[in-house]
Amino acid sequence: MAIGRPLSHAEVLWFNYSAKMSDPLLYFHNILFLFLIFTLVPLPLVLLDLMGFKALDKYKLQPKVRLTFNGILKCYKDVAFMFFTVVGPLQLSSYPIVKMVGVRTGLPLPSMWEILAQLVVYFLIEDYGNYWMHRALHGKWGYEKIHRVHHEFTAPIGFAAPYAHWAEVLILGIPSFVGPALVPCHMVTLWLWIALRQIEAIDTHSGYEFPWSLTKFIPFYGGAEHHDYHHFVGGQSQSNFASVFTYCDYIYGTDKGYRFQKEHLSKMRRRWIAEGNGEVPQKMAQDQKLQ
Ligand SMILES: [Zn+2]
Ligand SMILES: [Zn+2]
Repeated sequence: MAIGRPLSHAEVLWFNYSAKMSDPLLYFHNILFLFLIFTLVPLPLVLLDLMGFKALDKYKLQPKVRLTFNGILKCYKDVAFMFFTVVGPLQLSSYPIVKMVGVRTGLPLPSMWEILAQLVVYFLIEDYGNYWMHRALHGKWGYEKIHRVHHEFTAPIGFAAPYAHWAEVLILGIPSFVGPALVPCHMVTLWLWIALRQIEAIDTHSGYEFPWSLTKFIPFYGGAEHHDYHHFVGGQSQSNFASVFTYCDYIYGTDKGYRFQKEHLSKMRRRWIAEGNGEVPQKMAQDQKLQ
């Protein structure tokens, strides 16, 4: 074998799939992945929400807010329009940059550890860049001219993750590309990165915090609750700017109100239970999450 060892199953699969395909075509797979993920991943929760599935209410961050079918459809259509007019062309035109930074498509495939290490680096860079750009968009001019659109949803849903002004889609897309530009990877890793970043954004906008949330397993992961608070506070929000982790907001002191409120509410909850009142009533749980 040309790589000095027998090919793994994954490498045989990759070779059979990619050998006759041009590099640009492999890169353009991202357009399809992005569209499918954006359409399919938010769907189950949004449908259950529309059906008024009561069992999920206790996990809903703003249970009093229910979006209408027409509201959700409008959100999806607006994002789909943005997808075909901004995201798609951006992907098509950015191939020369991908080529220039040295994203490779051949064999061998990267090891699991290489993929994991690169993804961690990409997430850290994305989070840091996004924190400062997002924070800048909360300045008077940036908010009124651009970022206001993303904040139309004070109780976000998965479909609202990419719902934004076209300029914001371009601006906040930059930190996603900086990682692979600084630390070039294999095309498979790039696919994975684009897909995971999109899924992460959908998760943090889902409006639900489940017991199996990644916040329990990934240190400093922000999750839905962290970003939901940012949307709930809305335009005046000077809190919870980071897109993935919580540490930037902690270091730069932009999560003080959020932490104070969380602490205050959990104290109220503990007192309620300690006083022998039994389980926290649904109403109180809702108010706690809403305040
Ligand atoms: Zn914002
Ligand atoms: Zn958001």
